[in-house]
Amino acid sequence: MSARILVVDDIEANVRLLEAKLSAEYYEVLTASDGPTALAMAASEKPDIILLDVMMPGMDGFQVCRRLKDDPETRHVPVLLVTALDGRSDRVAGLEAGADEFLTKPIDDVMLFARVRSLTRLKTVIDELREREASGRRIGLIGGAAGRMGGTGGRILIVDDQERQARRLSVELAIEHRPVIESDPEKALMTARGPVDLIIVNTGAKTFDGLRFCAQVRSDEATRNLPVLAIVDFDERERLVKALEIGVNDVLAKPVDPGELAARAKTQIRRKRYTDYLRNNLDHSLELAVTDQLTGLHNRRYMTGQLEALMARAAHGGDPVALLVIDIDHFKKINDSFGHDVGDEVLREFAVRLASNVRAIDLPVRYGGEEFVIVMPDTDLTAARRIAERIRLHVAGSPFRVMNGRELLNVTISIGVAASLPAEDRPYTLLKRADEAVYEAKSTGRNKVIAHAA
Ligand code: GH3
Ligand code: MG
Ligand code: MG
Repeated sequence: MSARILVVDDIEANVRLLEAKLSAEYYEVLTASDGPTALAMAASEKPDIILLDVMMPGMDGFQVCRRLKDDPETRHVPVLLVTALDGRSDRVAGLEAGADEFLTKPIDDVMLFARVRSLTRLKTVIDELREREASGRRIGLIGGAAGRMGGTGGRILIVDDQERQARRLSVELAIEHRPVIESDPEKALMTARGPVDLIIVNTGAKTFDGLRFCAQVRSDEATRNLPVLAIVDFDERERLVKALEIGVNDVLAKPVDPGELAARAKTQIRRKRYTDYLRNNLDHSLELAVTDQLTGLHNRRYMTGQLEALMARAAHGGDPVALLVIDIDHFKKINDSFGHDVGDEVLREFAVRLASNVRAIDLPVRYGGEEFVIVMPDTDLTAARRIAERIRLHVAGSPFRVMNGRELLNVTISIGVAASLPAEDRPYTLLKRADEAVYEAKSTGRNKVIAHAA
């Protein structure tokens, strides 16, 4: 998986070294030697990852990072901060500034590529979610913008059998979050399926295999999107590499530094909330795309696809599909006399009466304005006409209660009925027949059902 990486460092030799290493692995490398240039390039070049040196004259790496994370246009681009060796306070400050990862100088190749790979994966997920969210926004389904997500108040599951260490972590994290400790990996997996924002795993646990636990979290459908922070003894090189390969989101060196723990937990939780936000918006927008907002019925877009499929089936020897086109009589008068809001109330009540008068497999749809359609699979013209008559009576038979019951309105409807003919496979011709039937019902007195055989 390749990526465009922006390397920012004020020292030419450092830039060249990183550029050489990354290019050798087929990454596309862009470079900048100061903060303002980096910000401009982040906006114009849209890199996938930014590798940012902390120590720079003028605007330092923390400032650059903060600016990147404050700007909605660049907020989602992962930032990998490069700090001095053992610059613990630097790392904490960097994570507080919103950095996603950091590397210490001199740069270790294994860590460099592990970090870059994990950030590339993260960026791919975020890009896809953002892309889908943006298309929802374009068709006006999603409003507002994501603010910068908070990283506190997280539900953190600590998986560790070393009681003293676990308790120490828990006390530290309890300042800003809600940690719980679990020493049994089976129980921990169960807990992780519930509401959890972050899992912290001690890979050096004595009674269970911490790395195996991480792998299980990653492979379980219910937990695979949860961030995992692994505590690893950095001297155990193999275990460190393994953890990164399994796909833990972050590693923390043993012994755990409290400030670094807090900062890393916050980063992971903030990131999870951002991807959750994108995912939820996405689900919501998919639902919105096929639902009418006023009545909760399906909309015309949804109907078109369903009807096409049903008619194709009917045309190939399946049972016929029937269609009712329903139009409220003199609806304009309701709006004119009582106002648009009362008109809306009538539409909602009407939708309820419709939906409660058809079978579960029938599809009631708000086709537009005060026009509705019911698609009825496996139904012939005779049966459809009977159902239409029942619906007509159910509407005309009792008045609509509006304005909190202060007003009772008599509402009637005109219904056109059509059923698919053998070999008829286009929704258009069926809809047209039902439309013509409604027109006839209107022109011959309204409050009636007309069925057009062909
Ligand atoms: P007809 O019996 O011939 O169908 O007469 P009508 O008044 O029902 O039909 P017409 O098409 O002339 O008017 C429909 C009205 O429905 C006009 C439009 O303003 C109103 N309308 C469309 N959508 C909505 C809506 O979502 N809410 C409300 N309150 N009114 C709507
Ligand atoms: Mg009407
Ligand atoms: Mg109309």
